[in-house]
Order: sequence, then C-alpha cells, then structure tokens
Amino acid sequence: MIDLRSDTVTRPTPQMRRAMAEAEVGDDVFGEDPTVRALEEETAALLGKEAALYVPSGHMANQLGLYVSVRSGDEVWAHEHHHLVGDEQGATAVLARALPRLHSETPAPSDALLESWISGRGDIHRAEPALVWLENTFTGRVVPLADQRRVTGFAHRHGLRAHLDGARLWNAAAALEASPAQVAEGFDTVSVCFSKGLGAPVGSALAGDADSITRARRARKMLGAGMRQAGVIAAGALYALRHHRERVSEDHRRAAALADRIGEAPGITARAQTSMVLLETPQGTGERFLAALAGHGVRALSIGPDTVRLVMHLEITDRDADEAARAVAKAAAEL
Ligand SMILES: *Cc1c(COP(=O)(O)O)cnc(C)c1O
Repeated sequence: MIDLRSDTVTRPTPQMRRAMAEAEVGDDVFGEDPTVRALEEETAALLGKEAALYVPSGHMANQLGLYVSVRSGDEVWAHEHHHLVGDEQGATAVLARALPRLHSETPAPSDALLESWISGRGDIHRAEPALVWLENTFTGRVVPLADQRRVTGFAHRHGLRAHLDGARLWNAAAALEASPAQVAEGFDTVSVCFSKGLGAPVGSALAGDADSITRARRARKMLGAGMRQAGVIAAGALYALRHHRERVSEDHRRAAALADRIGEAPGITARAQTSMVLLETPQGTGERFLAALAGHGVRALSIGPDTVRLVMHLEITDRDADEAARAVAKAAAEL
C-alpha cells in the first residue's frame, strides 16, 4: 500500500532513530533536558523569535498560542476551515474560552472585512477582538507574504495580536523561496510541526516572545504535558529540523508532477502548490473513488464530499508517485 493520506504517517528513518537512541537527556520539567533545550533554541532562532516551547502536538501548540493571546470571552478571527476551528474539537471554547469569529476569505481576510469587523469595537454588546489567526500553508496552498504582512500590520495597528498556524510552515517557506523567519515575521506567536513534512515521530513547537513562551510553558504544565526525559523524542524532531527541511521541495516536485498527470484523467481535476495534491472527483463519487483507489494500492483521504487529498512525504519515492498516478487513472476509469 502507498499511504498518501497524510505526511504524518512517516516512520523515523534509521539515522533519526540513532539520534533518538543516543540523545542526551535530563528532566525537562526542571529545564534540564539538553536535547529539548537545543530543539527549542534552534526552532526559535530559525523562526526569528526569542523563544520556543516543545509540545506533544500541533493542536497543543495552537491552543497555547491562543491561550497566551486572549482573555476569556475575547474574539479570535479565523477562517471557517482553519484547523483551529474544525479540527481541535471545541478546545477554543473549552480551554482559552475564546469566541471564534469566522470568515471564508482566502488566502487571508480582505481589508474590507477587517475594517468592518474592527469598526464595531467598543460597542457594549460586542466581545473584544484580541487575536487574528492565519494558517500557512492553508490546505496545501501558500498564503503570500504580502497578505500576511497586510493582516499582521492591521492587527498591530489596532492593538490585536496575530498567530500563525504553521504546521506546514516548512512547506510554505520552500514554496515561497523564503526563510522560515520570513514566513514567521510579524506574528506574535507561531506554531510549527516536526511530525508533518519533516517526518519526526512526535512533536510541535510554539514560538514567540520570551514572555509569551514562559506563559505557554506554565499552561503546558497546567494541562499535564510537562514531559520528563523528552529528549528521546525531541532528538527525532531536532534531527528532522536539521536534515529534512531541504527535502520538502522534493515532495512539492512530486506533487506537481502527480497533479499534472492526474489532470489527464477524464472527469478529475487536480492541483498542487506544495506537498498536497487536491483532487476533485465528479459529484457524488468521492467515496467510491477512494475505495477504488485503495483497490489499486493507494490510500488517500477525503476532505470534502468530492475532494480527495494525496500528500507526498518522506517515504514516497518517484516510483511510488508514478504508481499513484496510474492508480488514480484506473480508479477514475471505474467511476
Ligand atoms: C496537523 C495540523 C495541526 C495539528 O497538528 P497535530 O500534531 O496533528 O495536533 C494544526 N494545524 C494544521 C494546519 C495542521 O495541518
């Protein structure tokens, strides 16, 4: 089976396992795990922020980013399809107790929307806006840096904070030919995943100014995620950060080639900007298509009624991508 459901299905490489086995460790709740510290320092430096915090998941990195920027009842402005909104249960309401105010503008909210939403501020009926949320990449698509600057600039002019959900920031940076720090620029907090395109087994980070990260560290402990000899897993993330950032552009190249070839199959449209190929199948055929594809040895994920995603990752070779293209053509012919 060629598993293209997600870039989270990768297993650690032999070199990564060696780094994990040999990691120097200590009690990280006492701040004494040198590998975790190295990971946090290198992540912060790469993202151009003062500090970073290693956490078990991107979900937690996002929730801590939210928690340090809002008070209970404050508004967070987000897209209706952001991970924060649709994929973190109701954590936004349960933990930070924030009120999501949702738009549907891509790749980022327009000036007109931002202006209209800020204009009611101060009205006694309204919740207080506190945070603007962006995601890059956003469902495999890249948000241009100019749009990010426009939105973070607006936020800061109005005293709001800005968070970037950068679970796949490494992919955004590669696609934009920018450094991670350039992609993270202008955001008060940024979450990144080591367990996606980079192929680490566990973990994500929240980066930001020192004060925000100190508060996030306390909140992580409050949630019960103070980890002891976490260097064992952090070593996998550190290895991935040092050695696998360059290779995400290979995933992009394979995704683009796959999308091109799929475009030749009748009835199916495909597009890819980064590592994710998004397929539209004829109306009402999404589930059947997935089953047919599995019958030809490829696992994919349904992300809408007739939208299927195929994600390239560390374990996918040119030959796998080639085989996936043939499987898609066969599955399409069976619809
Ligand atoms: C995967 C993902 C997350 C969450 O990461 P987990 O480690 O799975 O909790 C957050 N945001 C986006 C955009 C993601 O794709």
